[in-house]
Amino acid sequence: MLVPSHVPRMPIVAVLATAIAAALGGCGDDEQPVAQVRVLRLNPGTLVSKQPRRATSVRATLTSPGAHRLPPAMSVPQIGSVAAGATNNGRLINGLQLPGTGPDWVTYDPILHRIPNRDDRRWGTDRLLAYLLYVLRDYRLANAGAPPVVIGDLSRPFGGPFGSDFGGLGHVSHQNGLDVDVYYPRLDRTLQPPRAVAQVDRALAQDLVSRFVGAGAQHAFVGLRVGLAGPPGIVQAIAHHDDHVHVRIANWRR
Ligand SMILES: [Zn+2]
Repeated sequence: MLVPSHVPRMPIVAVLATAIAAALGGCGDDEQPVAQVRVLRLNPGTLVSKQPRRATSVRATLTSPGAHRLPPAMSVPQIGSVAAGATNNGRLINGLQLPGTGPDWVTYDPILHRIPNRDDRRWGTDRLLAYLLYVLRDYRLANAGAPPVVIGDLSRPFGGPFGSDFGGLGHVSHQNGLDVDVYYPRLDRTLQPPRAVAQVDRALAQDLVSRFVGAGAQHAFVGLRVGLAGPPGIVQAIAHHDDHVHVRIANWRR
């Protein structure tokens, strides 16, 4: 299963908006009507890790025997998020917002080039956020001293188009809360995207990509020149990904 069963629930802190499905308007009629559309925030204050940093490297992944002994730093409430439609033509129902910063990550605005990323660019399904935060914790425990991971765009609060209207090249996908861009760690350890493949810490980048794959990524799109590898069909090298890996999880309906 994607999310480890031992992860405890975290209370939902704030319900920012509630609306009936009809308020969405203009939606395709291929989807079942939904009773509620919620936009929820995780509380960054509860994400501060009380888990002591380990001085020595800890090798544990979701699939390793020791994984169950690693207490998560935080958990993500499973609130019934729905990734409607397709990643390149969809929307997000009951999405959750990734906090701007956390114990294992910072978010980065790829248009304004600042930390954190803007509020309306970091939304995903509950499963994506649980998956993402688990892998980030796993990676940080296994690589003592590795800096926080720099996270780029996820989806918009209710999903939908996230193209060049929102700056830069935009995204074809990132429309239903299943996609997240993760910048490769830099050799100089600064918290910003690498500007060239020579700046990428390939050992850490490969470790990070491998953990996303090991934890069940459907796809991990990497760059053509950055030299990262993985199972064919899951790890795919494509253009415009030499500074980040685009991770996608499967659309699992509960
Ligand atoms: Zn992407």
